[in-house]
Amino acid sequence: PTFSDLPLRDELLAVVDELGYTHPSPIQAEAITPLVEGRDLLGQAATGTGKTAAFALPMLERMADQRPSRERGAAPFGLILAPTRELALQVSEAVQRYGAGLHARVLTVYGGAPVGPQLKALHQGVDVVVATPGRAIDLMNRGALKLHDLEVVVLDEADEMLDMGFVEDIETLLDATPDTRQAVLFSATMPRRIETLAQKYLREPVTVRI
Ligand code: AMP
Repeated sequence: PTFSDLPLRDELLAVVDELGYTHPSPIQAEAITPLVEGRDLLGQAATGTGKTAAFALPMLERMADQRPSRERGAAPFGLILAPTRELALQVSEAVQRYGAGLHARVLTVYGGAPVGPQLKALHQGVDVVVATPGRAIDLMNRGALKLHDLEVVVLDEADEMLDMGFVEDIETLLDATPDTRQAVLFSATMPRRIETLAQKYLREPVTVRI
């Protein structure tokens, strides 16, 4: 397929075109349509496969679609959890790039950074939060990160997050999101613990393996 065969609006297709992406990568070709349709997804994919765009483009498409009916400045639409500050920054840059034409407000939060500016940004309103789990919990406990109106949650490199001991934080965060939200889990490997997490939190997920 080409990108224009996918259910993405012109603002997103234009960015993809500007970036010089001629064709969707295999994971994008498989994941984008069901994600835009609101399905949950369990994906086994390593970095370098184009998995970031595979979850970010549908999230942005759905954000733009639902924007008219959402309160401006309300709680975030999307939450992306990543194991490290480096990955959070990298994902955040990509989401910002893909969402430029839609003026998506993207905030990156991770431990070690001063909390003041993160509190301020959350208070002003953001569309997508990219976070490491510990800091996300901290901001939720302070009442700044509100998850009650969340539409999409993504666990990126879930196996890494479990290896780093974030399982409790992840479960606490997922438990705070609405039952109706879309959940997306990407992992390079599929050990038992990831399958268990997926069974607990994903609803009839589409599975994609690259
Ligand atoms: P990721 O696996 O998400 O870290 O992406 C790996 C690299 O592939 C990034 O530098 C992306 O900018 C690039 N990329 C993602 N999708 C495509 C595509 N469809 N065509 C060409 N490059 C892409």
